[in-house]
Amino acid sequence: MKLSVLSSGSGGNSTIINSSEGSILIDAGITGKKLFERLESVSADAHTIMGIIITHDHHDHIDGAGVTARKLKIPIYIHRANFESLAEKLEKCEIIFIENEFKVGSFTIIPFPISHDGTANYAYNIISGGKKISHVTDIGVVTETVKFRIKDSDLLVLESNHDIKMLHEGPYPWYLKQRIAGNKGHLSNISAGNLISELRCTKMKNLVLAHLSKENNDPALAFDSMIRIREEHLMNFNLHLACQNNAMEFIEV
Ligand SMILES: [Zn+2]
Ligand SMILES: [Zn+2]
Repeated sequence: MKLSVLSSGSGGNSTIINSSEGSILIDAGITGKKLFERLESVSADAHTIMGIIITHDHHDHIDGAGVTARKLKIPIYIHRANFESLAEKLEKCEIIFIENEFKVGSFTIIPFPISHDGTANYAYNIISGGKKISHVTDIGVVTETVKFRIKDSDLLVLESNHDIKMLHEGPYPWYLKQRIAGNKGHLSNISAGNLISELRCTKMKNLVLAHLSKENNDPALAFDSMIRIREEHLMNFNLHLACQNNAMEFIEV
């Protein structure tokens, strides 16, 4: 498999995962136009995409899903509760409801619930060719289920949303700060680091930090704090930053 995060952050999220038999998108939260531009920028062929898998119903994860699915004539894989809140936006799309493990081409996809304030919130294991990718963003708190599901990943896309100090001292109103830092909000750099240091993730060769806040984080800060964790625990994964304005180069798994 190979993976590229096409866009990441509150301005829109989408990730493509490719195997020799086709590709899937996880979320499509940027406009269709932008999505196709990003695919082209990493030489990914949109016509290999077999389906769009939705994590939850926040606009930064679904805004481009309807138009992309209709254009490519591919299904949207979504939890029924999320579909109900989005039915209008996803009109005339082929919808496949998901709850348990399912297959798309050669990919086996395992949804697992996470704590966030969308209607139904999921992270995913994506397994193909004996390798495992985990995609975990929009998560307020890490549960034992999450640790269990991601611990033997070859590649992990993990939210590192905010620096706690920047969030508290930043411009957001109090209620929004509470939401972001709360159990149904987003993961801080420190929480992401704690998770990696606890799991040790010996199989993991690549870690992608994702969904960084533009206002409440600094990419250098997120990167450096995870590098410190890596060094402290003598781990040897490659560290990558997903960003809002560019697709990242494909990472091979
Ligand atoms: Zn989000
Ligand atoms: Zn969200």
